[in-house]
Amino acid sequence: MEKNCLFCQIANGEKPTEILFENDTLVVFKDIHPAAPVHLLIVPKRHIRSINDLTESDRPILSELMMVARDMAGRQGLAESGYRLFVNVERGGGQVIFHLHLHLIGGWQK
Ligand code: 5GP
Ligand code: ZN
Repeated sequence: MEKNCLFCQIANGEKPTEILFENDTLVVFKDIHPAAPVHLLIVPKRHIRSINDLTESDRPILSELMMVARDMAGRQGLAESGYRLFVNVERGGGQVIFHLHLHLIGGWQK
């Protein structure tokens, strides 16, 4: 937990946010400025700054992010129509919140 990290605060329930899914590893909530009809953020509870900061022991977290992304896409009715998953890395890659997260966007056509 990083004291001044927004996504740590959301994951710890310190910033009230509707949590769509939670398990031991991660939380899922809606992006506050959606870039698509469906825009979810899949966020590990552990504070990891970016993809650059992953360590060997984080491998299970990464696979969990992807598996939950697949499940959430299914729950949102996006599995057949399709969707996009992406991660921004550091400022040049468009990252503005420096706590690793996976974007799930879709729902343009169902
Ligand atoms: P990044 O550019 O770092 O990959 O994406 C950060 C995302 O977090 C942005 O799409 C932004 O809209 C979203 N965001 C920023 N602040 C908040 C917030 O307080 N609540 C939620 N739900 N999303 C946020
Ligand atoms: Zn954090």
